[in-house]
Amino acid sequence: AAQRIGANRYLPHTPALDASAQHHADLAAALRSGLDNGEFHLVYQPIVELPHGAIRAVEALVRWHPAGRAPVSPAEFIPVAEQTGLILDLGAWILDTACADAAGWQRRHGSAAPRVSINVSARQLLDPELPGLVAATLHRHGLTPRQLTLEITETAVFGGGPALATVHALRELGAGIALDDFGTGHSSLTLLRTCPVTTLKVDKSFIDELNGGPQQEAIAASLSGIADTLGLSAVAEGVETQDQADRLHVLGYRYAQGFHFARPAPADHIDASLIGASAVPVP
Ligand code: C2E
Ligand code: MG
Ligand code: MG
Ligand code: MG
Repeated sequence: AAQRIGANRYLPHTPALDASAQHHADLAAALRSGLDNGEFHLVYQPIVELPHGAIRAVEALVRWHPAGRAPVSPAEFIPVAEQTGLILDLGAWILDTACADAAGWQRRHGSAAPRVSINVSARQLLDPELPGLVAATLHRHGLTPRQLTLEITETAVFGGGPALATVHALRELGAGIALDDFGTGHSSLTLLRTCPVTTLKVDKSFIDELNGGPQQEAIAASLSGIADTLGLSAVAEGVETQDQADRLHVLGYRYAQGFHFARPAPADHIDASLIGASAVPVP
């Protein structure tokens, strides 16, 4: 609707803005009711060890299928959930659900059970209650913090402050901290001085460039070298071909994730993949 700015004067109608604001408001309301109505579920994508491909961890990825509509991508709804604050309730649900699944794998597969990685958004790190919530959720499901890794992005902790303090508290609990999309930000190396990271997830863009020549390979190799030097694990993200997997192994990558190994899948698919996994002992 036109906006009233004076006695009889109105700003002109701006349909594009109205439409996107309306879309945002609709999405926000649908997310809230979707959480109340059980429209979310989790899928898990294996993180494997090179070169044999045994599953060492799984990353939980949230999916939303609103009733009677097409599924919506997390790239679309996570930012809206962040802006409205719903990510706090959604994030608590994700944490609880992933821990319940992790406890199931632990019961059924013992030492072959994978660690579980959960993505934590910037808004969640600003919540001072997050470390307490993580501790309570782990305890409720009989898990230890060592079985959990929290994936954060550089932008979430850039600039320090309360978000970085939360990451320190999470690390002090004993959870792993992975830096997601590593190498794409503006201060990736600076951050390693202040942020208690245990894993670098080297962004897919570096993996895509692997066949781009010796310079591209050298960049990918130095990113795994940084991890080695600092005593961190490096995970190559978005591996789509056997050729990439072979190169990554040669370049010093110990862990990889991507469609070449496995697509994200429901928890029971992970169970099926784990059967026989104990043939490759955890180092
Ligand atoms: P991310 O954490 O970097 O997750 C990796 C994304 O890359 C996932 O997309 C995954 O399906 C996709 N992927 C994995 N392997 C390949 C590959 O070989 N090729 C290609 N093209 N893609 C691959 P997804 O599930 O759509 O998630 C997108 C982003 O949304 C995630 O990026 C993460 O930032 C966010 N997200 C997803 N689930 C959650 C969640 O539970 N909580 C929060 N806060 N954010 C989430
Ligand atoms: Mg991630
Ligand atoms: Mg990632
Ligand atoms: Mg990513």
